Amino acid sequence: MEKSIYRRLYDLVAGYWPFLLASSISAFIYVAFNGLSVWLTATLFNNILTDFDELIKTQSLLASSKASLNDQLKFWTNKLILRDTAIESLKVLCYTLIASFLIKNIFLYIKNISLTYIQFNLIKKLRAQLYSHLQSLSLSFFDKRQTGELSSIVINDVSNMRVAFGTSFHKLFVEPINILVFISLLFIINLKLAFLSIVIVPITGAVVVVIGKSIRRRSRRTAEKIARIMGIMSENLNSIRIIKSFAMEAFETNRFKQEQERHYTLDLRQAKLRLISSPVTEMIGAFIAVILLWIGGHDVLVSNDMTSEDFIRFILILFSVLQPIRSLSKVGINLQNGFASADRVFNVLDTVPAIVSKPNAIKIKDVKDEITFNNVGFNYDGTDRILKDISFTMKKGTVTALVGASGAGKSTIADLIPRFYDVINGKIEIDGNDIRDLDINSLRKMMGIVSQETILFNDTIGSNIKYGLQSVTDDQLQKAAKNANAYDFISEQPNGFETVIGEKGVRLSGGQRQRIAIARAILKNPSILILDEATSSLDTESEFKVQKAIDNLMADRTVLVIAHRLSTVESADKIVVMEDGEIADFGSHQDLLKKDGVYTRLYKKQFKS
Ligand code: ADP
Repeated sequence: MEKSIYRRLYDLVAGYWPFLLASSISAFIYVAFNGLSVWLTATLFNNILTDFDELIKTQSLLASSKASLNDQLKFWTNKLILRDTAIESLKVLCYTLIASFLIKNIFLYIKNISLTYIQFNLIKKLRAQLYSHLQSLSLSFFDKRQTGELSSIVINDVSNMRVAFGTSFHKLFVEPINILVFISLLFIINLKLAFLSIVIVPITGAVVVVIGKSIRRRSRRTAEKIARIMGIMSENLNSIRIIKSFAMEAFETNRFKQEQERHYTLDLRQAKLRLISSPVTEMIGAFIAVILLWIGGHDVLVSNDMTSEDFIRFILILFSVLQPIRSLSKVGINLQNGFASADRVFNVLDTVPAIVSKPNAIKIKDVKDEITFNNVGFNYDGTDRILKDISFTMKKGTVTALVGASGAGKSTIADLIPRFYDVINGKIEIDGNDIRDLDINSLRKMMGIVSQETILFNDTIGSNIKYGLQSVTDDQLQKAAKNANAYDFISEQPNGFETVIGEKGVRLSGGQRQRIAIARAILKNPSILILDEATSSLDTESEFKVQKAIDNLMADRTVLVIAHRLSTVESADKIVVMEDGEIADFGSHQDLLKKDGVYTRLYKKQFKS
C-alpha cells in the first residue's frame, strides 16, 4: 500500500529530531517570556503613572490580602522590582524588561533557525531525490509530462512544501500555546472583560476570515493566469524564428496583451479586496477597543471594580492575542497548499520506471551474430497500434536501411532496440537473448545513436564529444574529430576543442553540430549504430562532409539506418520498406526495384529527385 502523505513527511523530518526538539523547547521559553514582557510593560506604565508612595502602600495591601491570582502575580512582580526609591525601582524595572525581551528574542531566533535548518535540508534532499528519480524514469513518462511542469515540481512545489509546513509547524505548535497563555492571563486579570472579549473578538474575526477567503479564491485564479502568461511567453521565445518567418509578431503581441488584460482585471479586483481588508480590520479593532474601553473605563472610574494597572494590562494583552489568532486562521490554507504540492512531488517520486533491468540480467558486450525482430507489435500509451508484426534480421557487420513515408514507424523501430520503449508483442533478440533479459546499461553502452536532432550540451566542444566516456586522451579526441570531418572547423573556433558552444549548440551550423554528434559516436566506438540521417537542413558542402563522416562511422558496425540519402539506400545490405507500421517489402536495392512495388514508388518520389 502506498504510504500516506503524513507518514512520508514524518519520515522526511524524523532524522532531524534534535533540531525539532531544540526548536520546541525554544518555543516554550519564547512563549513564557513573551507573556512576561507584555505583563511587565503594563507594570512599567503603571509605575510611571502612579505615585511611588501609593505603590508602596498597594504593595503592603497586596502582601496582606493576596486574595486573587492576579493580586499574587502583581505582588511577586512588585517584589521583584520595587526598591527604596522611585527611580531605583524604575531602573530595576527597565533592566528586567530589557532582559525579558532579550531572552524572548534569543529563543525566538533559536526556534526559527533550527526550523529553517531542517527546512533547507529537506529542500536539498527532496530536490536531489526528484532529480535522480527523473533520470531513472522511462521515455514514456516524459511523453506524458511537460518539461515546464516537471521543473515546476522540482522548484516551486518543493519550495511551497517548505513554506507551508515550516510556517504551519510554528503556527500549529507555538501559536495555540501563545493564545492559551494570553487568554488565561486575560481571565486572571478580569473575568467580566475577558468573557466579553471572548464574545466580540470571534464575531469580528469571522468578518476578517470571509474577506481572506475571497482573496484566496481570487489569488488562485490569478496564479493560474500568471502560469498561462508564462506559458505563452516561453512558447513565444522558443518559437521566435517561426513567428518572424510568418510575420506574426503583431498577432503574438496582441495575444499576449489580451492575456495580460485578463490578468490585470483579476489582479486589480484582488488588490481592491486586499487593500480594503486592512482598513476594515483596523476599524473593527477600533470598535472593539472602544467598547472595551468604555466598559473597562467605567469600571475603573465609576465603580472602582478594577485598578488602572489591571486595565492597561488587559488591553495590552488583548491586542497581543489578536496577532496569533490571525495567523492561526491562515494555517488551513497554508497546509492545503502544502499538501497539494506534496502530492505532486510524491506522485513523481512514486512513479516506477517502466523499463528497468531484471534482477539477474545478462551483461552483454558485443553482438556476436545478429539482432532479430520477431513479430514485434508496439503502440505508445494511448495510441493505436503503431507497429504490426515486424520481423527482420540484422546480421553483424551489415547495414540495414529503413525506408518509408514519414510516420510509417521507422523511428519507433529504432527506439525499441535500446529499449527506450518496450515491445508490446513479440520480441527483439540479440544473439538469441531477449533484450528484456539483458542489463540495460550494458545494452545501451554498446550502442551509438545519432539522431536527426543533435543534442549538445552547453559545454565545450571537447566535453560534448567525450560525453559519457572516461579517460579519453587528446589524441583519441582529435582522431575522432578528424574521422568525423570535424577537425578543421573545430580548429578554427576561438578556443578549439575548449570552445563553449552555447545552449543547444546555437553557435554552430547544423552540419557542424551533426559532425560533433558523429565524432561523439565514433569515439564511443559502439558495435551497434543507430542512425537517423537527416540531410534536409544541410547545404551541399556540409552534406558532402557529413556524408563522408557517416561513411567513416558506419564502417565495421552493425548498423540500422533510417535512410534519407540515395547512396545509403543503394549500398545498404538490406532495405526494409515500411508502410503504415508494417513491413511492406525487403531486399537489396536491385531486388526491390525489380519488383516494381512500394519501394519503386518511394524511390521515384523520394530519392530520385
Ligand atoms: P517515422 O520515423 O517513420 O516518421 P515514427 O516512428 O516517428 O515514424 O512515428 C510513427 C507513428 O507513431 C506516428 O503516427 C507518430 O505520430 C506516432 N508517435 C511517434 N512518437 C510518439 C510518441 N512519443 N507518442 C505517441 N505517438 C508517437
